[in-house]
Amino acid sequence: MKAIVCVKQVPDTSGKVAVNPDGTLNRASMATIINPDDKNAVEAALTLKDNTGCEVVVVTMGPPPAEGMLRELLAMGADRGVLVSGREFGGSDTFATSQILAAAIKKIGVDAEDVVFCGRQAIDGDTAQVGSQIAEKLNIPQISYAADVKIEGKKVTVKRMLEDGYMTIETQTPCLLTCIKELNEPRYMSVGGIFDCYQKPVEVYDYNTLKDDPLIEVDTIGLKGSPTNIFKSFTPPQKGQGRMLEGADKNTAAELAAELLKKHII
Ligand SMILES: Cc1cc2nc3c(=O)[nH]c(=O)nc-3n(C[C@H](O)[C@H](O)[C@H](O)COP(=O)(O)OP(=O)(O)OC[C@H]3O[C@@H](n4cnc5c(N)ncnc54)[C@H](O)[C@@H]3O)c2cc1C
Repeated sequence: MKAIVCVKQVPDTSGKVAVNPDGTLNRASMATIINPDDKNAVEAALTLKDNTGCEVVVVTMGPPPAEGMLRELLAMGADRGVLVSGREFGGSDTFATSQILAAAIKKIGVDAEDVVFCGRQAIDGDTAQVGSQIAEKLNIPQISYAADVKIEGKKVTVKRMLEDGYMTIETQTPCLLTCIKELNEPRYMSVGGIFDCYQKPVEVYDYNTLKDDPLIEVDTIGLKGSPTNIFKSFTPPQKGQGRMLEGADKNTAAELAAELLKKHII
């Protein structure tokens, strides 16, 4: 049994977003981190390993420095890493990204008892599309927004978070789950894990490694294979100055309500 986890390295957008004078994002000022939801996905896989002894494989598509992130995940307890990296993969939108990741996961191999874990959403692209698209392309069932997961043999039971409650769904392995932060508390790297992580294997899958997979065609990967293109990107205009309404009377409340209605907030 294997747990395969897709993990994305992302810029740290939590309060440290800096904008250049020309309005573009100042990426150099932002550190890269492991996408937060993906840490929950890794923790879910490591818990499965604690309970069953399964192998945990972490896979990322990104530039060569993303290997550093894979080493961190190996230090947390993952067994091996796969770095999917190649010029041909650059510029991929979510369709192309999921083509490439699905091909990489097929190469790793999805057996009858295996589970693929993803985060719900990456904090940079923010689409929450990649996990579901990978499941479609692997032709396996998927459950998104996993807030609790039980895996007994081939039976997978997931409590799935909805806007106003939960639903419990059962499926069978092999399947793909997208994880949210309510699922668990990700563990830290251990000191022993940090010592061991450089002895663990990290394989690089480039274009040549994956090119024989039917998912990998010139018109299904990279910029050329992306059905969508970013036409324009810009920093949203800053909000105007706030307005204070003073008073605890009916008229002030009515004025506030009218203002909120005007802005379509209520
Ligand atoms: C029109 C368009 C054009 C783009 N062009 C470029 C470009 O030129 N260059 C560029 O760098 N990006 C580009 N992107 C961004 C790129 O498509 C996304 O980074 C990528 O598809 C992942 O989507 P997301 O960030 O929304 O992830 P989500 O769908 O929100 O991620 C969900 C989960 O999928 C998994 N996942 C997602 N991406 C990866 C990954 N790379 N490796 C491992 N697991 C992953 C993670 O588990 C993650 O939690 C473009 C996006 C769009 C929409």
